[in-house]
Amino acid sequence: MPGPPVTIVGAGAAGSTLALLLASRGVATTVLERRRQPLTHPAAHVVNATSLEIWEKADPLLASTVAALSPPLSELGTIRWASDLHDPIADLNFLDDADEVAAVRTYSPYLRSHVGQHQLMRELWAALDRAPLVTFVRGVEVEDLSVLPDGTQRVGLTSELGREDVDSAFVVAADGANSRLRDVARLRLEGPVLARMGSAFFRAPDLYPAGATRPLLTWIYRPDFAGVMIAHADDCYVLMTVYLHPGQEVAQSSRTYWEWMVPTILGRDHDVEIRSTGTWEMTSQVATSFRRGRLILVGDAAHRFPHTGGFGLNSGVQDADNLAWKLDAVLSGEASTSLLDTYEQERRPVVERFAEYSVANHLRLDEVTKVVGVTNRSLRQATRAVSSPPLSWLPARVMAPLAERATRLQLGRTAALRGTTAAGERARQHVVDTVPGQIEHFVATGLEFGYAYGGRLVDREPGEQPVVDEGVLRHRPTTWPGCRLPYLPLDDGRSVHTLVEDRGLTLLTFDPDAWESWVEAVGERLPVPVVVREVRPAGPRPDAVRLLEVGERGAVVVRPDGHVVWRSGQPPLQSGVRLALFLHRSWGGARRDPSFRQNPSMPLNWTLHHDGKTIPDGEIVRPGERLTWPRTIGLGAQHVVAMFGATFLVPTITGFPVTATLFFSGLGTILFLVLTQNRLPSYLGSSFAFLAPIGAVAASGASIEVAMFGILVTGVLLAVVGAIVVRTGIGWINALMPPVVAGSIVALIGFNLAPTAIKNAQAGPWMAVVTLVVLVLTVVVFKGLVGRLSIIVGVLAGYVYAAVTGALDFQPVRDAKLFGLPDFSTPEVSWVFIPAFLPVVLVLIAENVGHVRSVAQLTGDDTINERTGRALLADGIATSIAGAGGGSGTTTYGENIGVMAATRVYSTAAYWVAGAIAVLLSFSPKIGALINTIPTGVLGGVTIALYGLIGIVGIKIWIDNHVDFSVPVNQLTAGVALVIGIGNPELKVGDMVFNGIALGTIAALVVFHVMTFVEKRRQTV
Ligand SMILES: Cc1cc2nc3c(=O)[nH]c(=O)nc-3n(C[C@H](O)[C@H](O)[C@H](O)COP(=O)(O)OP(=O)(O)OC[C@H]3O[C@@H](n4cnc5c(N)ncnc54)[C@H](O)[C@@H]3O)c2cc1C
Repeated sequence: MPGPPVTIVGAGAAGSTLALLLASRGVATTVLERRRQPLTHPAAHVVNATSLEIWEKADPLLASTVAALSPPLSELGTIRWASDLHDPIADLNFLDDADEVAAVRTYSPYLRSHVGQHQLMRELWAALDRAPLVTFVRGVEVEDLSVLPDGTQRVGLTSELGREDVDSAFVVAADGANSRLRDVARLRLEGPVLARMGSAFFRAPDLYPAGATRPLLTWIYRPDFAGVMIAHADDCYVLMTVYLHPGQEVAQSSRTYWEWMVPTILGRDHDVEIRSTGTWEMTSQVATSFRRGRLILVGDAAHRFPHTGGFGLNSGVQDADNLAWKLDAVLSGEASTSLLDTYEQERRPVVERFAEYSVANHLRLDEVTKVVGVTNRSLRQATRAVSSPPLSWLPARVMAPLAERATRLQLGRTAALRGTTAAGERARQHVVDTVPGQIEHFVATGLEFGYAYGGRLVDREPGEQPVVDEGVLRHRPTTWPGCRLPYLPLDDGRSVHTLVEDRGLTLLTFDPDAWESWVEAVGERLPVPVVVREVRPAGPRPDAVRLLEVGERGAVVVRPDGHVVWRSGQPPLQSGVRLALFLHRSWGGARRDPSFRQNPSMPLNWTLHHDGKTIPDGEIVRPGERLTWPRTIGLGAQHVVAMFGATFLVPTITGFPVTATLFFSGLGTILFLVLTQNRLPSYLGSSFAFLAPIGAVAASGASIEVAMFGILVTGVLLAVVGAIVVRTGIGWINALMPPVVAGSIVALIGFNLAPTAIKNAQAGPWMAVVTLVVLVLTVVVFKGLVGRLSIIVGVLAGYVYAAVTGALDFQPVRDAKLFGLPDFSTPEVSWVFIPAFLPVVLVLIAENVGHVRSVAQLTGDDTINERTGRALLADGIATSIAGAGGGSGTTTYGENIGVMAATRVYSTAAYWVAGAIAVLLSFSPKIGALINTIPTGVLGGVTIALYGLIGIVGIKIWIDNHVDFSVPVNQLTAGVALVIGIGNPELKVGDMVFNGIALGTIAALVVFHVMTFVEKRRQTV
């Protein structure tokens, strides 16, 4: 069924919050949830004030209801360590510091609350039910995700009614730690499992006598049990313990275990009603990526931390807050999808910090318990040992009792805490002494309010964000760019947060007239709407001015999620230009209008990947990154070698000047990088598509300059297509070339070239074998740079073999001059052969679209697809300049995709180097002649690998886009196109010659669209 623009899978806290935030902005969502009833077994219970603030934006009733569910602050302050529930050793009361408690009350209209997740989820679901734009479907299990030709995301689900599909523009995976959609997208959670936990949720109304302190948490260490008890509302509790092996009773027959253990811990004279039991893994994990195209991960699907921090659920709520306004901006056409890149850029460092904090808390508990030899460190080692060979090879019936015995042996030492001996007394005193050091575990006000975002949407001020106590225990409200806008009550009783607009940017100031005049003067030209709001504080104005840190005349600019992006203490006269420049630089790139005249930014500031020397497994070097310059130069040289064989082949066959072709290929590459804003790693080499029309010109006896004119016209036409795509978007190209078509075209280009590679190889079979074998082995034998330069290494090996066997002829090198201008010439205007060149435009479109798609696919960044128009425009201009100066037409080179796929380096820096090398080489006939001595057999060996990789890239496009090959349209589109592409027939229509690539491309387009059209017609008749 067609759905609203966003489908959210999973109605946990993260998914529900996102749906509510989007609904409050007018964006409709479908929420698909496998449960029929809200969760009844509580996990989370710490609800941050900032989560309540976020919910207030989405649904004020929700925020007030949840806040009201929390017990009063006075009942929440005690954390207890005990040798037995009825034998407390030490209490930690984190409300003792009255000044700090008073300070916390000024940070937000809300307080950190304690609300069991079972209660919270009831309220969140009630809010979903009353939100008019949310279609909340329960009892459905989402199983898969596919991408339709036009980019639509299709979620496949099963319910008791059978299977169904839901289509939408974006899918958000909020389906928890075991996310199915994350697996479908082949993203992984990375990080260790720290412990396995079992828990019981029960009610015990008479556990504490009236008036007694009911600790929020009680850490219990007994010889038969170690764990924590969490107090919930309505006299309910959760008791949790660890286990090592899934075969242990607590995991296998958890109800039986807890029916015995809960009364054992509580004392058998209490009434107990066990409501539910469960198990879970305590991990510290973050997903390899938070997004694959238009699938976005939030909450536990993207990251998971130990519960010893209380940030799991809260960070999912923050994810939703960070994402909602961005999705809204993209869906409303206000911003391009590149804005969504900032979601992960901003959230990843924050959640990694939360993970680090939660793990530190988990391990800090050891300071208390190491006195009896029970530590979370040894627990982690034991958990790892049990899950790894050789212990994991043992059957459960052997391992489970062993694990049980090991646990008991370890816990036996906690008997000392009963304190009947001198050693026991010392152990108890140790607990008393170390418990105050645990305060950071339970108070993280600095992290709760102080989490901040970096990245391109936020201005950079010199220095560091001001914090107190390393930013964990205490908070320092600040308008430092990236931070949450500090809370300030206004004179109308509302919070300053309510002034922040849902869309665009809000400029907060005490001097609205000056800033409004500024916005009136420049607002039209800003890349994002800016609304001025006056701050009228409820309390003394000087305090408010101090809090916002920008004086009476300055301004704080805030984005829709309440995070500051820019601030200045100066009035607009002094700081307005700086703000405008910041907005153009930082927010201009995220805007929709991709016209390069309006957005000439071309960042050349590559960031160093990792240490610049190695690429960790599973990672790639992205277009905006680079390795060290020596390595980058090596990679650039490798790209030159990769394109050489093909780039030289065209002029060699057609009789075009070789040096001019090389010159325009290098110049075209640099031009291409400039026009595609340095984001699209590509080399522009000679296109084989021109062989046919140039051949036709030559066969007619016309001069080569006539063919140059044909190339010039082809380039102009391609540039026109590119300009249209830049203006209108790639929608029609996407519709024209869905993944099955694009994959077929890329694959057939690769496989069509197979005979060329073989023919070259046959010219020197042993040279080819040596080259290929060394190339292949280099990739796997050598790590690091040598492995990355496998192609050059292969060529060198083949070259040395050729030298040893006497197959090299250096005479042309001796004869050639060291320096000399490239062989330029000018075209001769003749329209006679232009029809023969026209099909080349289509092939170049296919090559460029396929290339852009391949790069997007291989880098996992579908925003690269948005540069398709620019790529076409750039190649068009490069081709026409080449035609005008005596070079052959250019195209984005698949050969170089092969290099990128093999090296995992997609840095555009390498292509600047390659372009520069090509231009330099074109000024040396001698070097050209030297490179020309690379024997054909060696080129054969290299091209077998490279052309094969192009073909495989096409197949990868099918796989990654889940092209369903049980569907006849897809079968025939790919099948027919591949056979034509590989068979390489030649069709002459008049003067025009269509080869296998052109015919295969046309076949893919025609078969797909005709079959789709007929099929649709038949269904509607
Ligand atoms: C013992 C414990 C204590 C914790 N304490 C805290 C705490 O104090 N504070 C805190 O912030 N966090 C805490 N956490 C973490 C918190 O519970 C999680 O981080 C939070 O529940 C994650 O929310 P979510 O919405 O991302 O995922 P989930 O809550 O897991 O929700 C995912 C939803 O997706 C649904 N779903 C899954 N697969 C599918 C599918 N294929 N099709 C349809 N629906 C699907 C599920 O039914 C579920 O409703 C604790 C966790 C544990 C285990």
